[in-house]
Amino acid sequence: MYTGSIDEYFDYCHGRLDYRSVRFENELVPVANWQGNAVVNYTDRAIPYTRIVEHKHFEMHGEVLYRNEISVISREYSIEWHPDAERFYPVNDPRNTALFRRYADMAEKERNVIFGGRLAEYRYYDMDDIVVGALAVAEAHISRFG
Ligand SMILES: Cc1cc2nc3c(=O)[nH]c(=O)nc-3n(C[C@H](O)[C@H](O)[C@H](O)COP(=O)(O)OP(=O)(O)OC[C@H]3O[C@@H](n4cnc5c(N)ncnc54)[C@H](O)[C@@H]3O)c2cc1C
Repeated sequence: MYTGSIDEYFDYCHGRLDYRSVRFENELVPVANWQGNAVVNYTDRAIPYTRIVEHKHFEMHGEVLYRNEISVISREYSIEWHPDAERFYPVNDPRNTALFRRYADMAEKERNVIFGGRLAEYRYYDMDDIVVGALAVAEAHISRFG
């Protein structure tokens, strides 16, 4: 099973796929509750970050939030992908779609390797979709090979 980037698997023989990446700016803020929610999205062009995550809301609710007078927030800035950055989002334009198709054709001919997941399929998945996809791949191979 290969879950890495499909162009990397084939040594970028047709060129590199483009991605968008994210730069995280973390801050310790001296307030118990910064934004009242785990994630707040910012879609205004004038604001340079796309969302702020306040991590404690994932695990704490109600009064417990206020037991600690500090909080950690992360601002997320959308950036161009570069080789040292994490590949976050595929770029679904004609160039990248055609390039991915060439790699996908090669992957279909590869024996004994299952290509799966957001990087090998060059596709954005939410967590629930990726779990459904992983189970479908497992089921298909179990029924094929036992
Ligand atoms: C910025 C961002 C925010 C998201 N927010 C949400 C959200 O709020 N809600 C939601 O439901 N989903 C969200 N998702 C989507 C969710 O993270 C993905 O659907 C899920 O992680 C995809 O699982 P995956 O196994 O395909 O890929 P990954 O989780 O990325 O796993 C791929 C694995 O392959 C490994 N790998 C990479 N290259 C190689 C290699 N060359 N050789 C071997 N192994 C390799 C990696 O180390 C990694 O362990 C978000 C995704 C991103 C990028």
